[in-house]
Amino acid sequence: MPLDLAIYAVVLAVVNYPFVLGVDWYVRTHPVKPVYKLDEPAGQRAREVRNSWMATPVHSVFFATFIGSGALLTGPESIGLAIGTFVLTFFWTEIWHYVSHVSMHTKALHFIHREHHRSHLTAPWTSVSFSLLEKFIFSGGILGGLALLSRWHALSAFGIFVYYVVYFYTNTLGHANFEMRAAGYYSRSMGQIFNSPSYHALHHARYVRNYGLLTPWLDRVFGTEWEDVAAVQTRAATGSPLTRLGEKCFHESTSQTSGSARTPARIGDIAEFAAEDADDFP
Ligand SMILES: [Zn+2]
Ligand SMILES: [Zn+2]
Repeated sequence: MPLDLAIYAVVLAVVNYPFVLGVDWYVRTHPVKPVYKLDEPAGQRAREVRNSWMATPVHSVFFATFIGSGALLTGPESIGLAIGTFVLTFFWTEIWHYVSHVSMHTKALHFIHREHHRSHLTAPWTSVSFSLLEKFIFSGGILGGLALLSRWHALSAFGIFVYYVVYFYTNTLGHANFEMRAAGYYSRSMGQIFNSPSYHALHHARYVRNYGLLTPWLDRVFGTEWEDVAAVQTRAATGSPLTRLGEKCFHESTSQTSGSARTPARIGDIAEFAAEDADDFP
């Protein structure tokens, strides 16, 4: 294996832990603004840490295997190729994650995703708590899709590596149960493009909708976004967090998100069915 690929793989195998430990330390030692003001259930962290030992290295192993075996073709590194590959990986992962995530909320496939959803209240360690099979599907899909695309144009190993590092960091923040954006975030241009931590906190607390990874676009296209995302974000950002997992604030919804989930598309109905089947939901 080339030295640069080996270095990337080693970094990917371990870099998630400093992110999780750092964000966890920050949440516990700083006056953050929680999305849900609830105590973490006893045993949650120990279970999430146990899950992480198996699930976290999967990305690194898949990355090294796909590129090292030649299944994913990479070319000579350049700034342009690295940026292009990063952007391509970003968009493909948004699509793959949405499709696979919604699929895992169907009755037939929910067993793959159930372990991640045992944490109804998100925490930094929830970001690394998955079944092994779920991580196989996530990373296998990302790299498998890129492998197909690489037959058309060789990609940058460095660009994919950087995407994974960014994903690890943003995924940790997305599970941290505190709002880092100012009130009204979803009415600003940045909020139209990227999610804030409130977005995924709602997915875990309510079990369905808000399936997007870093962006809300596909949830809006398919009508699977919670309509009170903006209201919840503003409540958290103004120091008025939700106090029950089932709590909703539809009456406070703002216009830019109110239309998407009010009339769920068929894909949303499938996901709701999975929620009814989830016997571990309180
Ligand atoms: Zn889910
Ligand atoms: Zn999650």
